[in-house]
Amino acid sequence: MPHARGSSPRTRRVESKRRIRRRRAVCVAALWFVAPAALQADWFSDERALMGTQVRVELWADNARQARPAISAALAEIARIDAAMSVYREDSEVSRINRDAAQAPVAVSAELYELLERAVGMFELTGGAFDVTYAAAGVLYDFRNARRPDDKVLAEALRSVSSQLMVLDRGERTVQFVKPGVRIDLGGIAKGYAVERATAALQRRGIQHALVSAGGDARFLGDRKGRSWRVAIRDPRNTERSAAVLSLHDEAISTSGDYERFFIEDGIRYHHILDPATGRSSDAVTSVSVIGPDATISDALATGLFVLGVTKGQTILKYFPAYDAVFIDRQGNLHFSKNISTLSE
Ligand code: ADP
Ligand code: MG
Repeated sequence: MPHARGSSPRTRRVESKRRIRRRRAVCVAALWFVAPAALQADWFSDERALMGTQVRVELWADNARQARPAISAALAEIARIDAAMSVYREDSEVSRINRDAAQAPVAVSAELYELLERAVGMFELTGGAFDVTYAAAGVLYDFRNARRPDDKVLAEALRSVSSQLMVLDRGERTVQFVKPGVRIDLGGIAKGYAVERATAALQRRGIQHALVSAGGDARFLGDRKGRSWRVAIRDPRNTERSAAVLSLHDEAISTSGDYERFFIEDGIRYHHILDPATGRSSDAVTSVSVIGPDATISDALATGLFVLGVTKGQTILKYFPAYDAVFIDRQGNLHFSKNISTLSE
């Protein structure tokens, strides 16, 4: 087996499956963070239900007086972004866009405007696989109650799916839809963005070692007191087990999986990541994890690569030289992008 250690500095390490299974992991939603042997006095953490998941902040600080306001600021940042970008809140900016942007251009905050531009950038770089206008089809699914649209309704909705139907005007800072029926949902990018912003809030308060996680998205700041952060990627078909463990340092990881929100009907798994080309749940792979410097990109890219599958996904990764991916295919096989290698057992 090739040995990753000592090769290119860009190489990331994945530990062997066998070693991973022997290790006990602490489960934090979709990702598992391997617990340290002993907690130290200067380790602080808190969590809160936000953005449809459990958000967790952990950090090293000199004392509680430094730690507590930093944690509060990070959680407040996520709550703020949730309030602006949730489609589940009628008073959010995104809901206002969905209500009004087909009639006239809607003025939005600089922050939301920037994120929409980044989302469109991801639409272009992923060949349309990541598309926030997937929502015209997405809104027809109700995973909790196992409801899905019939073919005719879905075909009609698909005519409103394309980020090209959304006009962004940078000068006016407005968003407009070119026709009725178009809608957006930032569920594939906002959580990563929020995690990134929360991490920046910690940095502004002098925090150098931290973790912010929100379901499948996590951002690590610095290291874990001189050692790498260790993150387990969950086995999509056996939630008790992990499929791989990664060593991370000062970077983000996002996982998109078909096991988060789904129902099974006639043997078909209907889940929350839709192929914008068909309006149906993508079955190319069962999980994609993306590792890289920015959680906003890793979040959107994981969703996009999930739709694209292993072969097309690997091709698209050339546009993202700072990012790596771990795919798990339908047979449970792992595929790594070129800068990730496995360690021999
Ligand atoms: P999670 O929200 O479970 O962390 P992901 O980051 O993979 O999962 O994002 C899935 C979410 O992204 C969906 O719940 C939906 O809001 C949105 N989404 C689904 N399909 C697409 C797509 N093709 N492009 C952009 N966003 C999508
Ligand atoms: Mg995502």
